[in-house]
Amino acid sequence: MTDFSKTRDLFHLPEGMIYLDGNSLGPLPKSTAARVAQTVTEEWGAHLIGGWNDCNWMAAPKALGDRIGRLIGAEPGHTVIGDTLSIKVFQALAAAVTLNPDRRVILSDNGNFPSDLYMAQGLIRLLDRDYELRVVAPEEIEANISEEIAVTMITEVDYRTGRRHDMKALTQKAHDKGAIAVWDLAHSAGAFPVQLADCNADFAVGCTYKYLNAGPGAPAFIYVAPKHADTAEPALAGWLGHDAPFAFEQGYRPGQGIERMRVGTPPVIQMAALDAALTIWDQVDMQALRARSLALTDRFIAAVEASCPELTLATPRAHVMRGSQVSFHHPEGYAIMQALIARGVVGDFRAPDILRFGFTPLYTSDADVDMAAKILAEILDQRLWDTPEYKTRKAVT
Ligand SMILES: *Cc1c(COP(=O)(O)O)cnc(C)c1O
Repeated sequence: MTDFSKTRDLFHLPEGMIYLDGNSLGPLPKSTAARVAQTVTEEWGAHLIGGWNDCNWMAAPKALGDRIGRLIGAEPGHTVIGDTLSIKVFQALAAAVTLNPDRRVILSDNGNFPSDLYMAQGLIRLLDRDYELRVVAPEEIEANISEEIAVTMITEVDYRTGRRHDMKALTQKAHDKGAIAVWDLAHSAGAFPVQLADCNADFAVGCTYKYLNAGPGAPAFIYVAPKHADTAEPALAGWLGHDAPFAFEQGYRPGQGIERMRVGTPPVIQMAALDAALTIWDQVDMQALRARSLALTDRFIAAVEASCPELTLATPRAHVMRGSQVSFHHPEGYAIMQALIARGVVGDFRAPDILRFGFTPLYTSDADVDMAAKILAEILDQRLWDTPEYKTRKAVT
């Protein structure tokens, strides 16, 4: 059982800040700087090219993948890291459509993150056949899974509202109708236990800089179910996904299983930061994490609803439908969030009107939740957000 009162001390959190944005960029683990420095000076500096063998750099993407695999219920040996999430979405989708060659519709929902939809649009342009990306409302996904659908491409937790889809039921329905299920776990990995194998998911992808705390630009991960591992065709046929990269053959032959989803040189320094972050996650009991996460989100919802009548809850109340974030609608959401950040409560804003708060049991306490709700109420009661300074949009919201 993880003691969440102790895990907070594993992170560097600036004095006086209540950080509720770990769903966007996780904080710095205290061990990361030394771990990265070790890779830079002792590995790269001392071993140079030898680091690929001596320091296991070449094998690291799969080893790190398996440590993420435990958090997402993947079978060992079926998850690998590399590239960014957008690239991994493209790879998973491209492999999935070729596994279902007689169908032409990719189904997603309008709660999906734009990059996932853009990647599907880009893939469709390349395929140069009559493919269609069909985007429906999240609550209509289930009814739209029909025998026309080649692939469902669904992000489990909506980045704006925190609404969570029923992965098991939707995957089952996809399979009943002969479709392949691709899941994006961007707001799931490290947010709650995911059961990919148990849900029979075909492909899954996610990032490591949000709940997993591996730092800005940290590599993404991809999972391919064992039944597809040796048949999925890699559209991004890079040399490190080749069966024998150092044979330098002229023709591409996909590597064994998940190795084929590698593309090029892995980000060695960023992998060191991921290693440090996963050293924390290796010890976390995911069921206990979920229980704490729900307690924190329930507490925040209750406190804000009691003291901020102007805000409308955007996140489902039902636990099964909730990720690890809480969002509220307010027409002045951007300015309110800027005022909150100025008071040391860091969440973020998502257009058009969403105030978003991520809850992360590893470093967020009940006292943080209570203080954040209290400051939010003060800002609303006294209209502290209502100044030009807080209304000017920055490049990154
Ligand atoms: C955060 C997020 C992304 C970001 O993709 P990057 O390539 O890492 O920038 C993509 N999809 C979803 C669903 C996300 O939440």
